[in-house]
Amino acid sequence: MFFAVAVNKRQTSSFLILFFVLTFNVFAANKIEGVRIWPAPESTRVVFDLSQKPKFSHFTLKNPQRLVIDFANSKSAVSLSNVLKNDKRIKKIRLSTPKKKGSTRLVLDLASSYQLAVFPLSPAGTYGHRLVIDLYDKHGKNTVKTNNTNKTKRDIVIAIVAGHGGEDPGSIGARGTYEKKVTLNIAKKLSALIDKQPGLKAVMIRKGDYYVNHNRKTELARKSKADLLISIHADAFTSSKPSGASVLVQSTRRANSEFTRWIANRQKESELLGGAGETIKRTKDKNLAITLADMKKEYTMGSSYAFAEHVIKQMKKVTKLHKSKPEGLSLAVLKSSDIPSVLIETGFISNPREERNLNSSAHQKKLAKAIFTAVDHYFSQNSPDGTLYASLKLKRHLIRRGESLSVIAHRYNVSVSSLKKVNNLRSNVVKIGQTLKIPRAD
Ligand SMILES: [Zn+2]
Repeated sequence: MFFAVAVNKRQTSSFLILFFVLTFNVFAANKIEGVRIWPAPESTRVVFDLSQKPKFSHFTLKNPQRLVIDFANSKSAVSLSNVLKNDKRIKKIRLSTPKKKGSTRLVLDLASSYQLAVFPLSPAGTYGHRLVIDLYDKHGKNTVKTNNTNKTKRDIVIAIVAGHGGEDPGSIGARGTYEKKVTLNIAKKLSALIDKQPGLKAVMIRKGDYYVNHNRKTELARKSKADLLISIHADAFTSSKPSGASVLVQSTRRANSEFTRWIANRQKESELLGGAGETIKRTKDKNLAITLADMKKEYTMGSSYAFAEHVIKQMKKVTKLHKSKPEGLSLAVLKSSDIPSVLIETGFISNPREERNLNSSAHQKKLAKAIFTAVDHYFSQNSPDGTLYASLKLKRHLIRRGESLSVIAHRYNVSVSSLKKVNNLRSNVVKIGQTLKIPRAD
């Protein structure tokens, strides 16, 4: 008896709780009460007034560009037809079918893709709860922002692959220098320099004395969203004579079936080597082919080549060059990475003088510094959208009477060719009153 009563009481209270939960939910729906649009030269702010603190999520869609905002457990009590007054970034604000029952989906039809900041604001002054959406022009200065501006400007990621490792020593010099050790030392020094620079971030694909297979290398580089992949190697040849550094990029221009066959069946490499490219003949580097196979597709080849030119320009200040131009290797048939990639042969380990150099910490530092400078210069001129590098303004120069390209180049310690490149100039002719962008010093 006593037992039965107790059960009844428990059931009653459960029903009461259920009743309150349901009732609370019905009355708790958030109400979208107003929308304000604030167009500015470099951004547009959209503010939604809400009856309660919003629970929201958002995502973007392409073709056409849209921003979708879902307000959980909410109702719209606002007319959206008249809120837009000549805003160049938002074409339309409209309601759409929400995915979850009881939520409200708003769609902003946009003119382009923008850098976004979406955040709630607590009641202040005459305002209640709000949800703010800022749309920033991608090349804008982003000077006015409630939150930390740097948060939305990402770092440029550089993946560094120290060649060989573990069971695979790479080339071995006459004095017993292991390529795998040299490449790791240079990679570590380069990584430190990159991490010190605001706006750049290094990802070491190999951190110690172990081997990373080529699929994993690409996977790691992709996972870290690398903008660039740099493989570091040291060359070797059967004779001790050749010396100097070289930079290799993938190229499809000269399809070489012998070479791809050699990759497919490396046990027979000795037979096929005679017909393969010069580089393969002299490197004796089994991984070179695989690394090159991992390099990016044709559409990123241009950027690889451009970066390689920067590397050569800097490397020749600190070491002899084996080849004065980036070397292209054809590997069109092979699966390749979509990340711009270069392979840097830092010198010949088979050359006694260079073996000594490659072992020296001071020389390794010089090589790392040269590669770092190339990275900095390249991304200063080719900074991806949304990065801190892209937001750093280039210096500008107004051309006055008597000034020529070479005079300006000399004044800012940059080359005429880089001045032309940054300003998309086809000839050396400049006009009085013209403004030129000034790249960073060479
Ligand atoms: Zn190597």
